[in-house]
Amino acid sequence: MFGVRSEQRLLQKAAAFVLNAVGQERFMSALAQCRALLAAFVASAAAFVSTSASTQDRAAERAAMIETIKGHARSGAHSIDPAVLKTMGTLPRERFVPEAQRGAAYHDRPLPIGHGQTISQPFIVALMTDLINVRPGDTVLEIGTGSGYQAAVLSPLAAKVYSIEIIPELGKRAAARLAVPRFDNVEVKVDDGYYGWPEHAPFDGIVVTAAASHIPPPLVEQLAEGGRMVIPVGGPFATQFLMLVEKRRDGGITTRQLLPVSFVPLRGGPSR
Ligand code: SAH
Repeated sequence: MFGVRSEQRLLQKAAAFVLNAVGQERFMSALAQCRALLAAFVASAAAFVSTSASTQDRAAERAAMIETIKGHARSGAHSIDPAVLKTMGTLPRERFVPEAQRGAAYHDRPLPIGHGQTISQPFIVALMTDLINVRPGDTVLEIGTGSGYQAAVLSPLAAKVYSIEIIPELGKRAAARLAVPRFDNVEVKVDDGYYGWPEHAPFDGIVVTAAASHIPPPLVEQLAEGGRMVIPVGGPFATQFLMLVEKRRDGGITTRQLLPVSFVPLRGGPSR
């Protein structure tokens, strides 16, 4: 049994509770709005900071990568064409690696790009590009598009770059990455690169970025007179060597073994 006074008190309490609840609800929704606004602000500020920081940091990382490349070249008594270094110094390598690898994009080593394949170590990309001696007006063929990075490095140096990738998913992904005006002289196709791309031969330069058991005769055939091919040769469990193949003006072939390297194997070819 409640008396009148206790009933009144109860009503007052209930009213206070309801008011409190309504007030709390308003307060909560205002708080939620504030929180949402704050979160949006923090997110956009973070995005802004990370974009500007990443562009700046990455430029610094690229510069450091170029110094490392120069250092490797010096210790091998080789010098890399400044045009190659300039291209690599402005190309965002992080765009050519999977998201999980972005942080390591400028590390001095190859990185996984999926399907058991790798993007080559920056020094090797620089060296191979330098070795084929690309001149403006040249037509270049790459075997093993992979991430598309090597093709992107070749793009501003050559008139035309053809690149062949045997794994359809990688080929398509690289082609999509390269489908921007900056790389409009690059053409990618999914095929077995062992046989080259006869429709566009002869090539002034050929870069093979997977290790072959032997130098594919179709590629030698498609090399222009005075042209150069760089190719890793050797089995997957044997030491591979980077070879420089030159087709002389008289049509004769010169090969030079340069340095031990480690590449993923070239698939396909007649032994398939
Ligand atoms: N140049 C690449 C690195 C590629 S790794 C880059 O800059 O990222 C070697 C690539 O060669 C792999 O993607 C592999 O799938 C491809 N490959 C292997 N055998 C091939 C063949 N017969 N024809 C074309 N591509 C081949």
